[in-house]
Amino acid sequence: MSPEASRDPLPGAPPGTDAADVLIVGAGPAGSATALALRAAGVPRVVLVDRAAHGSPERAALRVGESATPNVGPLLARLGLPDDLGRLGHRPYHGNLSLWSGDGETADDFLRRGSGHGWHLDRARFDRWLREAAVERGARLLAPATLAGIERRPEGGWTVGLRDAAGQRSVTARVVVDAGGRRAPLATALGARRRRLDRLIALAVDVKIDGAVGAAPAGDPAGGGFRGRSFVEAVEIGWWYAAVLPGGRAIVTLMTDDDIARAAGLAGAGAFRSAWAATARLRDLVPPPEDGPGAGAAPAVFSAASQHVDRAVGAGWIAVGDALIGFDPLTSSGIAGALDDALAAADTILRWFSGDGTAARAAAIGYARRAEDTLRRYLAERTRHYTAGGRWPDAPFWSRRAAR
Ligand SMILES: Cc1cc2nc3c(=O)[nH]c(=O)nc-3n(C[C@H](O)[C@H](O)[C@H](O)COP(=O)(O)OP(=O)(O)OC[C@H]3O[C@@H](n4cnc5c(N)ncnc54)[C@H](O)[C@@H]3O)c2cc1C
Repeated sequence: MSPEASRDPLPGAPPGTDAADVLIVGAGPAGSATALALRAAGVPRVVLVDRAAHGSPERAALRVGESATPNVGPLLARLGLPDDLGRLGHRPYHGNLSLWSGDGETADDFLRRGSGHGWHLDRARFDRWLREAAVERGARLLAPATLAGIERRPEGGWTVGLRDAAGQRSVTARVVVDAGGRRAPLATALGARRRRLDRLIALAVDVKIDGAVGAAPAGDPAGGGFRGRSFVEAVEIGWWYAAVLPGGRAIVTLMTDDDIARAAGLAGAGAFRSAWAATARLRDLVPPPEDGPGAGAAPAVFSAASQHVDRAVGAGWIAVGDALIGFDPLTSSGIAGALDDALAAADTILRWFSGDGTAARAAAIGYARRAEDTLRRYLAERTRHYTAGGRWPDAPFWSRRAAR
């Protein structure tokens, strides 16, 4: 059946339920991009569900994940979106400065790799823009609404329970997509298991900076300043990350393991600021707030563990983005991976709707293999990165990673 042929309500859908061809749980980059790709292919009833209210004020909450690598632009273009994010207020991102292996500060600029530049995003604005593009293309957004349950219908497809301000409601769907982020709420409700491969967390603050922060100092060994680049500095307990964001702000993040952070009380403002002040280079690039009462906020804490679900796809469901594989932020692969998954998942779903059972099965197998290949390549890359940073081979953070 072509996607256009599915306009009729699902046979046997209980009265009072909405019907969707595809219901997507999660309207982050992976969910919004899946909706965009399905709408572009003509799937009529695409419903996006997100537990967060849409259009919340831009800086209501710190949103991490701001470095969009150069491959994000071409993926946006494949989704039919403009790839010049500068016009939308995001800042060009030209490469990385790092103090990683003990060889001093090094610069890795995208131009030298033969790629264009990426973007330092205002993440909240980027996510909202993608979601709005999906809605403009005809996807229906239910937000705030949370997944409350899911059941397979005997006649095919699913009944999905949602909880929103008005109470409980049900939507029937032929196919469901888990784009619900690291917790993989839908895949786990359907029996898939999350495999967590480490205990990495991010402790992050978003600070106001003045115009001089990040400008290239005279004789900068890396041949440029920190503006327009991401900065990474390895330390014994993990690594620091910083980038200048749109709007005169910078993000400063310490990546470490949850037990190490707990033992050192790093989630407290004072310990976090002291660790920041003890860095070799970061403290000059983005100075920590002055010590004293009320100085500096406690960092927000996020899980950043490498993880994956043990099943990428099943009969009538598929996982994308962080719900499928959660990457270590060191690789900056999350946004590009989410958009790429979305395009691959939309292709898979279209083959399920084609009415050709052999093609549908082959598509599901192909998607599962793609996920396995991505995970294998990612884990090799992660090991390479951490092995290169082995300045403290006996420190728990580094020895745990070298052991893999
Ligand atoms: C500290 C840190 C730094 C990072 N830095 C980078 C970076 O620099 N570059 C990069 O490319 N990537 C980075 N990432 C990764 C990147 O942010 C993610 O890969 C990306 O957000 C994945 O998109 P997603 O749509 O899969 O998931 P998410 O962005 O997590 O979106 C999931 C959505 O699902 C919704 N949801 C969850 N549960 C439910 C439910 N039960 N019902 C309804 N809705 C639900 C949530 O509200 C959310 O909107 C970083 C991640 C971390 C943790």
